[in-house]
Parts: sequence; C-alpha cells; structure tokens
Amino acid sequence: MTTRTVAVTGAGLGGLTAALALRKRGFDVTVFEQASELREVGAGVQLGPNAMRVYAALGLERTIADFSFVPEAHVVRSGKTGAAIATTQMKGVYEAQYGIGYHTMLRADLQGALAAQLPAGVLQFGKKCRAVDSRADGVTLQFEDGTTFDCDVAVGADGIHSAMREHLLGKDSPRFTGTVAYRGVADAATLPKDLLTGDVSVFIGPGASFVYYYIRRGELVNWVALVEESSWRQESWSAEGDLADVKRLYEGWCPVVGDLISHAERCYKWALFDRDPLPRWVDGRIALLGDAAHPMMPYLAQGGCMAIEDGYVLAHELAKAPEAPERALRAYQTARLPRASRVQLMSRKVARVNQTPSLGARIARNLRMAVQKMLNPSQHAYKIEWIYGFDVTR
Ligand SMILES: Cc1cc2nc3c(=O)[nH]c(=O)nc-3n(C[C@H](O)[C@H](O)[C@H](O)COP(=O)(O)OP(=O)(O)OC[C@H]3O[C@@H](n4cnc5c(N)ncnc54)[C@H](O)[C@@H]3O)c2cc1C
Repeated sequence: MTTRTVAVTGAGLGGLTAALALRKRGFDVTVFEQASELREVGAGVQLGPNAMRVYAALGLERTIADFSFVPEAHVVRSGKTGAAIATTQMKGVYEAQYGIGYHTMLRADLQGALAAQLPAGVLQFGKKCRAVDSRADGVTLQFEDGTTFDCDVAVGADGIHSAMREHLLGKDSPRFTGTVAYRGVADAATLPKDLLTGDVSVFIGPGASFVYYYIRRGELVNWVALVEESSWRQESWSAEGDLADVKRLYEGWCPVVGDLISHAERCYKWALFDRDPLPRWVDGRIALLGDAAHPMMPYLAQGGCMAIEDGYVLAHELAKAPEAPERALRAYQTARLPRASRVQLMSRKVARVNQTPSLGARIARNLRMAVQKMLNPSQHAYKIEWIYGFDVTR
C-alpha cells in the first residue's frame, strides 16, 4: 500500500517546512502542535544560503525577502573593543557564490509565513503527542486530549524534548551546555544613528559572546547574548530575563553591546542544551527531524537550517519510494545524519574557540583568523563553505 497520509508532530521551523515540502509532493499532511497557537517570541533567526535554497525550491524566496534583512557581512569582533577580527562579505557575494543570499528575520514572521501557506485544517493546535504505536502497515499517534490519529508515516519534529525520539531511542536527557542565551529585540528607529553596522556582528570574549543583526527589513535589531552560567537550566522560549542583569554581565565590553541591551523592552532567557549525535533517527515508519534528531548549540546559526534541509530531503525520499516508506525513511537518514552530526559537533567547537578563557588561546585564535583572512579573504571565519554550499534541492 502506498504512502498517502503523513502526520508531523511540532509546528516549529522543521515541522512547518516538512509539511510544505510533503504537500508539494502530493502527500496528505497533518501537523499536530501542542501549543494553542503559534506564539510571537522576541527572537531572530539567520538563514544561510543552504536553508534559503529550500525555500526557493518551495516558491517562498520572495515571500521571505519581503520581511527579512540581507546583512552586508559576517564580522567576528573583539568583545572588548568591537574591532573586527575577521570580516566575510556576504551581500552581493553570496548571491553569486551560492546562487542565493543570507537572510535574517524575526522567527515569528517566518513561522507565520510558513503556516499561512497551509490550508485550513492541516495545522492542528492543542495536540500534544504523548505516545506512538508503530505497526508494519501504519502508525497511530495518541494525544494528551485522549484522541488518536492513524497515518502511513509519522514525523517527529517536536524539538529537543521530543516524545517521538523517546519512543525510538528510550528516555534520556539532553546535555546542559553550561551556557545561557538571552535574546532581545530593539526598535531600530530608537537607536542612536550610526550605532550599528548592517552586518551580523559577533562579539567574542572569555566565557561569553554577543551577536546582533537587523531583521524585518531593517526595522528591528535582534541580539543574542550567550553567557556561560552553570546555575540556571530552564529551557523555554517565554521565560523572561532581567535586562539590568544582562547589562551587568557585559560590563567592560564594547559600549555598543550595552547600548543595544538598553534599547530592548524585554529579553528572554533560554538555557542551551544539546546532544551527542544520535546513531539513528528512523524506526520503521517513524522519522525524526530538526532538534528532535540533532539539537545543537547556536554558534553556527544552523540548527533551524538543518531542520529545514531535513524536511525537504524527507519529502523527496518519500516521494521517490511511496510504496516502500521504511526504505524511503532509511534513505532520508543516510542522506541527513552524517551532515547534521558534523554541524552539531562543529557548533560545540566554535563555542569553545569563541569563548575560551585562556589569553594564549585567544591571541592564537585572533592571529589565526587574521592570517586566514589575509591568505583567503573570501573564506568564512569558521570555514563553513561546506555548509552553505550544499544544495539539498538538487
Ligand atoms: C539562542 C538561539 C539562537 C538560534 N539561532 C539560530 C539561527 O540563527 N539560525 C538557525 O538556523 N538556528 C538557530 N537556532 C536553532 C533553532 O532555533 C532550532 O534548531 C530550531 O528552532 C529547531 O526547529 P525544530 O522545528 O526542530 O524544533 P522547535 O523549534 O523546538 O519546534 C518544536 C515544536 O514542537 C512542539 N512540540 C513539542 N513537543 C510536542 C509534542 N509532544 N506534541 C506536539 N507538539 C510538540 C513545540 O511546541 C514546538 O512548536 C538558535 C537556537 C537558539 C537557542
């Protein structure tokens, strides 16, 4: 019997993108989200060319360009002085190098635009999946409200604490990375003129880093403060942090950092967890994607991008062999697991290098980046051309 119905749990970037890609291939998709609505959260997201290519293939490049921002460059800066250590030009270069640009946007704008592409009824709220029952001929999802849903294939896009993952691989806990992220958004119109440059600026220092970039056509600025703090572990998009505390954490840093923090109305606090790469993401007719399969630290800004790539590849493999869903899902895993695992591990490494407390290691890192830039000015400071250049839509 051929695959027709696909259930996706979780309406994050991964689940929504998978749903759009699956619908484009003709599958009958339902997305089950535990929350009662898609909530506006004050946070930005950067999409590299590798993820933007997926949206281009889904016909959404123009839609995204309407609410995103295209940064000039990626600039690694000294946390203390703000001086550029390594600048990688993106705007005007990436379009030629990768066929598509680098975009930054408000997460809620992207989620809203993706959800708006789904016909009524596809996205169902208030549906927390609590168990899955997998058989040779299909899967049944059970929800906390007592209802069930039968489908041919089930996709767990339900984030780092995935219920589907637990079904596949048993109960365990993600690893607290010892780092807390504070995220804020400032209205660009309220900022002193010429305070910021139009790039993705990454300020690095011992035990912390700070990133800002424009979003929503340049009307807003998103910032993320990443601080090593071992005491606080709550993971929630909606827990509020104290702006005065964040400002204190960055005392002695380049003044731009404190200025930006002061211009946010509020900030959200989020403990960072990740996992070691998993040995498998698939079992029979069930597959994991996105953070459910490969949660990672945000230092390469690729967790969402990998989820987006996953969704596209999953739909592609299922469409190639709808009569053999188990084989199709194994092909999806083969195509995706090595790449996402490599990005997971590299994200950890960038965290260590960026935030090293050792003075000697900091001097060596800055020298290495400066020499690399002299020898090969167009190369990204993190040497991630292999991430951006990969085209899952081919
Ligand atoms: C500070 C920070 C900055 C980041 N910046 C970037 C960036 O710039 N670029 C980038 O690509 N990535 C970035 N990331 C990573 C990115 O946010 C995640 O990788 C991405 O959101 C994962 O998407 P997902 O759809 O897999 O999971 P999620 O976004 O976690 O979505 C999971 C969804 O599933 C729902 N759900 C959970 N359990 C259930 C259940 N049992 N039943 C039904 N629904 C359920 C949740 O409510 C949620 O809506 C960043 C992360 C952090 C923490």
